[in-house]
Amino acid sequence: LPAESEFVAFDHIAAGHEGISSNASGSLIIKPCTQAEIDFYESAKDHPLVQAHMPTFIGALSLHDDQDAVAPLLNAATGTAAFNGTTIPSPTLGKRISWKPSGGKKLSTGLAVVMENVAAGFKDPNILDVKLGARLWADDAPASKRRRLEEVASRTTSGSLGFRIAGMKIRHHHDEHEQEQEHAPSDVKNDPAHVHLKNGYKSYTKLYGQSFNNDNVLDAFTTYLGGVHQDPATGKRSFRRKRAGMIVKRFIRELESLQYVLENEESRMYSASVLMVYEADEEALERGLQEEENEQTTLDHELDEEEDEGLGDDEEDDDDDVVPQKVHEVRLIDFAHASWTPGEGSDENLLTGVRNIVRILRELVS
Ligand code: ADP
Ligand code: MN
Repeated sequence: LPAESEFVAFDHIAAGHEGISSNASGSLIIKPCTQAEIDFYESAKDHPLVQAHMPTFIGALSLHDDQDAVAPLLNAATGTAAFNGTTIPSPTLGKRISWKPSGGKKLSTGLAVVMENVAAGFKDPNILDVKLGARLWADDAPASKRRRLEEVASRTTSGSLGFRIAGMKIRHHHDEHEQEQEHAPSDVKNDPAHVHLKNGYKSYTKLYGQSFNNDNVLDAFTTYLGGVHQDPATGKRSFRRKRAGMIVKRFIRELESLQYVLENEESRMYSASVLMVYEADEEALERGLQEEENEQTTLDHELDEEEDEGLGDDEEDDDDDVVPQKVHEVRLIDFAHASWTPGEGSDENLLTGVRNIVRILRELVS
């Protein structure tokens, strides 16, 4: 059985609390959470269209002395088809088993959720967490929390646009132009409370995200995408990063799909986020694009073969253990205050934020 030490601190976070771990391969993460979040992940199986936009749920863990019990679950999970969206047999994985957090950190709930690491499959993931909603508190929030979250919303884009940048983590490249290209007031971009460098990544804190308003929040997105360059002669603005326009178009498509799904569901999610990821390493990105093309060609061939020869062509697929290089990901995360609310209509609080992100991203590619 894997030792406790095979759980490692998970460092690729854009925002939120500390205390997330991952398995050794990095395909799964273990996040301390509330019972409500576990309940929401479990009940999402009855809402497959929403579920498709969430990280794949593996199971729940409860804090217990018998730490070995976690091993079979994680082995079973990582043993499956490189974990690329394939369903994991639920009898093994749906079960609640016990664990002990590796950091010895005390968890207030003693519960954790095990799920797909959305940032796996990237060489250098550039990660953005956008918190959704103007109202960020659930019905059961105490008055003090409600007041605090109302105050933050009122002075940030949460209140005006229904979303705000919660945080981001992007690969830092040594580039003398970077500082000038980065569109943020210099007091913000030079303040370690807003931006700091660690292990070759730049982390942008929640205070960074709170510093934007309606008129400049576009700059947070362009910074995330690697900056823009303005031609001094023509005044024309273009992305510094070669594939940024394509990435934006992919983000838009994913968010439009999310929007459509949420418009047709009855749920309430307070303080949920969209997590966006794209490959920052240019070579790896090109490889990811190539792999997508190869995958499509293989699928086409398999379909042709099935038509020609019928089923039963049991060709060994050796690629199953290889995690494909990803180009981008967009997922809805953070369901601590989420529930299904039949009869209450769509979650306009959440949808306003999604629609405004789409509108702003469209400005970047129009
Ligand atoms: P909280 O905000 O309550 O601390 P979140 O669920 O928002 O918890 O997670 C915090 C951060 O962890 C997110 O900003 C994101 O960067 C990272 N994260 C959360 N879930 C995943 C996931 N499934 N895959 C990859 N990263 C994740
Ligand atoms: Mn969060």
